[in-house]
Amino acid sequence: MKIYRFRDGDRVRVGVGESERIWRYTGDDAFNLGTIDDARPLPLAEARLLAPVTPGKIVAVGRNYAEHAKELGNEAPSEPIIFLKPPSALLAPGGTIIRPEVSQRVDFEGELAVVISQRAKNIRRASWRNFVLGFTCANDVTARDIQRKDVQFTRGKSFDTFLPLGPCIETELDPSALSLRTRVNGETKQDGNTRDMVFPVDFIIEFVTAVMTLEPGDVILTGTPAGVGPLVAGDVVEVEIEGIGALRNDVA
Ligand code: MG
Repeated sequence: MKIYRFRDGDRVRVGVGESERIWRYTGDDAFNLGTIDDARPLPLAEARLLAPVTPGKIVAVGRNYAEHAKELGNEAPSEPIIFLKPPSALLAPGGTIIRPEVSQRVDFEGELAVVISQRAKNIRRASWRNFVLGFTCANDVTARDIQRKDVQFTRGKSFDTFLPLGPCIETELDPSALSLRTRVNGETKQDGNTRDMVFPVDFIIEFVTAVMTLEPGDVILTGTPAGVGPLVAGDVVEVEIEGIGALRNDVA
Protein backbone atom coordinates (compact mmCIF):
# COMPACT_ATOMS: atom_id res chain seq x y z
CA MET A 1 0.00 0.00 0.00
CA LYS A 2 1.21 3.49 -0.87
CA ILE A 3 0.25 6.12 1.72
CA TYR A 4 0.28 9.74 0.61
CA ARG A 5 -0.15 12.88 2.69
CA PHE A 6 -1.34 16.01 0.92
CA ARG A 7 -3.08 19.31 1.18
CA ASP A 8 -6.70 19.23 0.05
CA GLY A 9 -8.41 22.61 0.22
CA ASP A 10 -7.57 23.93 3.68
CA ARG A 11 -6.97 20.58 5.33
CA VAL A 12 -4.21 18.00 5.47
CA ARG A 13 -5.30 14.57 4.35
CA VAL A 14 -3.94 11.13 3.86
CA GLY A 15 -4.82 8.79 1.06
CA VAL A 16 -3.92 5.54 -0.58
CA GLY A 17 -2.38 5.52 -4.03
CA GLU A 18 -3.38 3.23 -6.83
CA SER A 19 -2.22 3.58 -10.44
CA GLU A 20 -1.63 7.35 -10.58
CA ARG A 21 -4.65 8.17 -8.38
CA ILE A 22 -5.05 8.81 -4.66
CA TRP A 23 -8.10 7.65 -2.73
CA ARG A 24 -8.85 10.15 0.02
CA TYR A 25 -9.19 8.69 3.52
CA THR A 26 -10.88 10.21 6.57
CA GLY A 27 -7.76 10.21 8.78
CA ASP A 28 -5.06 12.83 8.89
CA ASP A 29 -1.84 10.88 9.28
CA ALA A 30 -0.24 7.66 8.14
CA PHE A 31 -0.97 6.00 11.50
CA ASN A 32 -4.65 6.90 11.44
CA LEU A 33 -5.85 6.34 7.90
CA GLY A 34 -9.52 5.89 8.76
CA THR A 35 -11.70 4.79 5.88
CA ILE A 36 -12.24 5.85 2.26
CA ASP A 37 -13.91 9.24 2.30
CA ASP A 38 -14.74 10.04 -1.26
CA ALA A 39 -15.84 8.05 -4.25
CA ARG A 40 -13.77 10.24 -6.58
CA PRO A 41 -10.01 9.65 -6.46
CA LEU A 42 -7.60 12.54 -6.86
CA PRO A 43 -5.23 12.31 -9.84
CA LEU A 44 -1.73 11.92 -8.37
CA ALA A 45 -0.39 14.58 -10.74
CA GLU A 46 -2.79 17.15 -9.22
CA ALA A 47 -2.10 16.32 -5.56
CA ARG A 48 -0.27 18.94 -3.48
CA LEU A 49 1.91 16.40 -1.72
CA LEU A 50 3.43 16.86 1.71
CA ALA A 51 6.20 14.87 3.35
CA PRO A 52 4.41 11.58 4.12
CA VAL A 53 5.22 11.78 7.87
CA THR A 54 6.25 14.47 10.34
CA PRO A 55 9.08 12.78 12.25
CA GLY A 56 10.11 13.79 15.75
CA LYS A 57 13.65 12.88 14.79
CA ILE A 58 15.59 11.81 11.74
CA VAL A 59 18.54 9.48 12.26
CA ALA A 60 20.92 9.22 9.33
CA VAL A 61 23.64 6.69 8.59
CA GLY A 62 26.84 7.96 7.01
CA ARG A 63 29.12 6.05 4.61
CA ASN A 64 26.82 3.05 4.35
CA TYR A 65 27.85 2.18 0.78
CA ALA A 66 31.52 1.30 0.36
CA GLU A 67 31.84 2.96 -3.07
CA HIS A 68 30.42 6.22 -1.69
CA ALA A 69 32.76 6.16 1.31
CA LYS A 70 35.63 5.71 -1.15
CA GLU A 71 34.59 8.58 -3.45
CA LEU A 72 34.84 11.01 -0.50
CA GLY A 73 38.21 9.57 0.55
CA ASN A 74 36.90 7.52 3.48
CA GLU A 75 37.06 3.86 4.47
CA ALA A 76 33.83 1.92 4.91
CA PRO A 77 33.20 2.09 8.68
CA SER A 78 33.39 -0.94 10.98
CA GLU A 79 30.13 0.06 12.64
CA PRO A 80 27.41 2.49 11.52
CA ILE A 81 28.20 6.20 11.75
CA ILE A 82 24.98 7.89 12.82
CA PHE A 83 23.97 11.54 12.98
CA LEU A 84 20.75 13.51 13.28
CA LYS A 85 18.95 15.85 10.93
CA PRO A 86 16.32 18.19 12.42
CA PRO A 87 12.61 17.99 11.56
CA SER A 88 12.85 21.65 10.50
CA ALA A 89 14.85 20.51 7.44
CA LEU A 90 11.87 18.56 6.02
CA LEU A 91 10.76 19.46 2.52
CA ALA A 92 7.69 18.25 0.62
CA PRO A 93 7.85 16.54 -2.75
CA GLY A 94 7.93 19.34 -5.31
CA GLY A 95 9.33 21.81 -2.77
CA THR A 96 12.38 23.96 -3.46
CA ILE A 97 15.79 23.17 -1.96
CA ILE A 98 17.37 26.47 -0.89
CA ARG A 99 21.16 26.61 -1.11
CA PRO A 100 22.40 28.72 1.81
CA GLU A 101 24.67 31.65 1.08
CA VAL A 102 27.35 30.33 3.45
CA SER A 103 27.94 27.23 1.29
CA GLN A 104 29.60 27.03 -2.12
CA ARG A 105 28.92 23.31 -2.48
CA VAL A 106 25.51 21.73 -1.84
CA ASP A 107 25.25 18.04 -2.78
CA PHE A 108 22.35 15.65 -3.32
CA GLU A 109 22.39 12.24 -1.60
CA GLY A 110 19.59 9.89 -2.67
CA GLU A 111 18.67 7.49 0.15
CA LEU A 112 16.16 4.85 1.18
CA ALA A 113 14.26 6.11 4.25
CA VAL A 114 12.70 3.83 6.88
CA VAL A 115 9.53 5.03 8.67
CA ILE A 116 9.13 3.68 12.20
CA SER A 117 5.66 2.36 13.16
CA GLN A 118 5.77 2.01 16.94
CA ARG A 119 7.97 2.81 19.90
CA ALA A 120 11.19 0.86 19.44
CA LYS A 121 14.03 0.31 21.92
CA ASN A 122 16.60 -2.49 22.00
CA ILE A 123 15.10 -4.21 18.96
CA ARG A 124 16.76 -7.41 17.77
CA ARG A 125 17.48 -7.70 14.06
CA ALA A 126 15.07 -10.61 13.60
CA SER A 127 12.03 -8.59 14.70
CA TRP A 128 12.79 -5.36 12.79
CA ARG A 129 9.72 -5.62 10.55
CA ASN A 130 7.31 -5.20 13.49
CA PHE A 131 8.67 -1.70 14.02
CA VAL A 132 8.63 -0.41 10.45
CA LEU A 133 5.57 1.13 8.82
CA GLY A 134 7.25 1.28 5.44
CA PHE A 135 9.77 3.01 3.21
CA THR A 136 10.07 6.23 1.28
CA CYS A 137 12.66 8.19 -0.70
CA ALA A 138 14.86 10.85 0.88
CA ASN A 139 17.43 13.34 -0.28
CA ASP A 140 20.05 13.88 2.44
CA VAL A 141 21.03 17.29 1.06
CA THR A 142 24.46 18.27 2.38
CA ALA A 143 26.55 21.44 2.39
CA ARG A 144 29.71 19.48 1.63
CA ASP A 145 32.17 22.31 2.22
CA ILE A 146 30.68 23.00 5.64
CA GLN A 147 30.55 19.29 6.52
CA ARG A 148 34.28 19.08 5.70
CA LYS A 149 35.11 22.21 7.68
CA ASP A 150 33.14 21.33 10.82
CA VAL A 151 34.00 18.34 12.98
CA GLN A 152 30.28 17.66 13.50
CA PHE A 153 27.91 16.92 10.61
CA THR A 154 25.15 18.99 12.21
CA ARG A 155 25.50 22.32 10.43
CA GLY A 156 26.22 20.95 6.96
CA LYS A 157 23.23 18.58 7.09
CA SER A 158 20.64 20.74 8.84
CA PHE A 159 19.77 23.79 6.75
CA ASP A 160 16.06 24.31 6.15
CA THR A 161 14.89 22.35 3.05
CA PHE A 162 17.80 19.88 3.32
CA LEU A 163 15.48 16.90 3.78
CA PRO A 164 13.12 16.27 0.87
CA LEU A 165 11.02 13.21 1.80
CA GLY A 166 8.40 11.27 -0.17
CA PRO A 167 6.44 10.94 -2.35
CA CYS A 168 4.66 8.20 -0.35
CA ILE A 169 5.25 5.48 2.22
CA GLU A 170 5.23 2.03 0.64
CA THR A 171 4.20 -0.35 3.40
CA GLU A 172 4.86 -3.63 1.58
CA LEU A 173 8.44 -3.69 0.43
CA ASP A 174 11.49 -5.88 0.94
CA PRO A 175 14.33 -3.35 1.30
CA SER A 176 17.16 -5.80 0.67
CA ALA A 177 17.71 -5.29 -3.10
CA LEU A 178 16.03 -2.17 -4.46
CA SER A 179 17.43 -0.10 -7.27
CA LEU A 180 18.02 3.53 -6.26
CA ARG A 181 18.66 6.23 -8.84
CA THR A 182 19.24 9.94 -8.49
CA ARG A 183 18.84 12.15 -11.55
CA VAL A 184 19.70 15.81 -11.96
CA ASN A 185 17.92 17.51 -14.87
CA GLY A 186 17.08 14.05 -16.17
CA GLU A 187 20.67 12.78 -16.16
CA THR A 188 21.39 9.76 -13.95
CA LYS A 189 24.02 10.62 -11.32
CA GLN A 190 23.57 7.80 -8.81
CA ASP A 191 22.66 4.29 -9.94
CA GLY A 192 22.85 2.11 -6.86
CA ASN A 193 21.15 -0.81 -5.19
CA THR A 194 20.28 -1.26 -1.53
CA ARG A 195 21.93 -4.69 -1.61
CA ASP A 196 25.25 -2.82 -1.49
CA MET A 197 24.62 -1.30 1.94
CA VAL A 198 27.48 -1.99 4.35
CA PHE A 199 24.91 -2.36 7.15
CA PRO A 200 21.43 -3.52 6.06
CA VAL A 201 18.16 -2.15 7.41
CA ASP A 202 17.72 -4.81 10.13
CA PHE A 203 21.24 -4.22 11.44
CA ILE A 204 20.72 -0.44 11.47
CA ILE A 205 17.48 -0.75 13.45
CA GLU A 206 19.16 -2.93 16.07
CA PHE A 207 22.11 -0.53 16.21
CA VAL A 208 20.09 2.69 16.47
CA THR A 209 17.55 1.36 18.98
CA ALA A 210 20.40 0.20 21.22
CA VAL A 211 21.18 3.92 21.52
CA MET A 212 17.84 5.72 21.50
CA THR A 213 14.11 5.10 21.63
CA LEU A 214 12.46 5.54 18.25
CA GLU A 215 8.87 6.77 18.11
CA PRO A 216 6.15 6.29 15.48
CA GLY A 217 6.94 8.51 12.51
CA ASP A 218 10.65 8.76 13.23
CA VAL A 219 12.74 8.26 10.11
CA ILE A 220 16.05 6.54 9.48
CA LEU A 221 18.06 7.49 6.38
CA THR A 222 20.12 4.49 5.33
CA GLY A 223 22.98 6.16 3.48
CA THR A 224 23.71 7.05 -0.12
CA PRO A 225 25.37 5.10 -2.93
CA ALA A 226 28.27 6.44 -5.00
CA GLY A 227 27.82 9.31 -7.42
CA VAL A 228 26.99 12.25 -5.15
CA GLY A 229 27.49 15.64 -6.70
CA PRO A 230 26.55 19.30 -6.60
CA LEU A 231 23.24 21.06 -7.07
CA VAL A 232 23.00 24.56 -8.52
CA ALA A 233 20.12 26.99 -8.89
CA GLY A 234 17.60 25.86 -11.47
CA ASP A 235 18.41 22.16 -11.14
CA VAL A 236 15.69 19.56 -10.76
CA VAL A 237 16.76 16.59 -8.64
CA GLU A 238 14.88 13.29 -8.49
CA VAL A 239 15.45 10.33 -6.19
CA GLU A 240 13.70 7.23 -7.49
CA ILE A 241 13.55 3.93 -5.61
CA GLU A 242 12.13 0.74 -7.04
CA GLY A 243 8.67 0.01 -5.65
CA ILE A 244 8.20 3.46 -4.08
CA GLY A 245 8.32 6.13 -6.79
CA ALA A 246 10.21 9.33 -7.48
CA LEU A 247 10.87 12.27 -5.16
CA ARG A 248 11.34 15.39 -7.26
CA ASN A 249 12.52 18.82 -6.08
CA ASP A 250 13.89 21.94 -7.67
CA VAL A 251 16.81 24.01 -6.42
CA ALA A 252 17.18 27.74 -5.76
MG1 MG B 1 23.60 10.71 3.61
